Amino acid sequence: MKLFEQFLDILYPDNFSCIICGDDIFNENEYCVCAECKKDLPFISGKVCKKCGLPINSMANYCDRCQRNKHFFDKAIATFYYKDEIARCIKNLKFENCRYLAKYLAKFMADTLNANNIICDVIVPVPMHENRLRERGFNHSELLARHLSEIVNIPLDTKSLIKCVNTKTQVNLNFEQRQNNLLNSFKVLNINAIKGKNVLVVDDVFTTGSTMDNCAKALKGAGANKVFCISIAHTVIL
Ligand SMILES: [Zn+2]
Ligand SMILES: [Zn+2]
Repeated sequence: MKLFEQFLDILYPDNFSCIICGDDIFNENEYCVCAECKKDLPFISGKVCKKCGLPINSMANYCDRCQRNKHFFDKAIATFYYKDEIARCIKNLKFENCRYLAKYLAKFMADTLNANNIICDVIVPVPMHENRLRERGFNHSELLARHLSEIVNIPLDTKSLIKCVNTKTQVNLNFEQRQNNLLNSFKVLNINAIKGKNVLVVDDVFTTGSTMDNCAKALKGAGANKVFCISIAHTVIL
């Protein structure tokens, strides 16, 4: 892995060209995004739901969905809205094998984590079923989690939480179907690594929260103290 990353660093050196527009970057820039593009990124700002991180403009502390439904996780946060260039970056990371993007997206996630004052003991990526992993070749959430772990200096655990059922894709499923689809599909293998810990789960996109919820359910079942969730982007379903 280290050697592979060194190879990528040669292919895509830091501070070389903007990951959004491709223009040269002249100033020191750990995000690898030029000032023009950074200004246009769909950052989530303002008031958000205290539970799921969804932007809200009411007086309430929780969004409608969190007022109606219970979540297993304690708190979820995300940096961006899932749209525009960020949606394109995430698709490129997942489906076009642009693994180098994970490092820069993780930098944005680290800022969001720090801004929320979340203290955790261990970082756990949303796991992929072994069959899916074989098809895709890599787990994008694990790549993000690995970089995030390095940036914020919190240990990474990629072994304790596994996806034990190869569920069908969540795309085109509604909230309830997503919950049922993932039910009991995650499992904690190493309870001792999770018990009593504050765990941060990493994924690319938060849609209904059902993936995070099912991971949190397994982690809480293994005795996790608190489960926080971080994603690059939050889908706003209108
Ligand atoms: Zn740019
Ligand atoms: Zn909410």
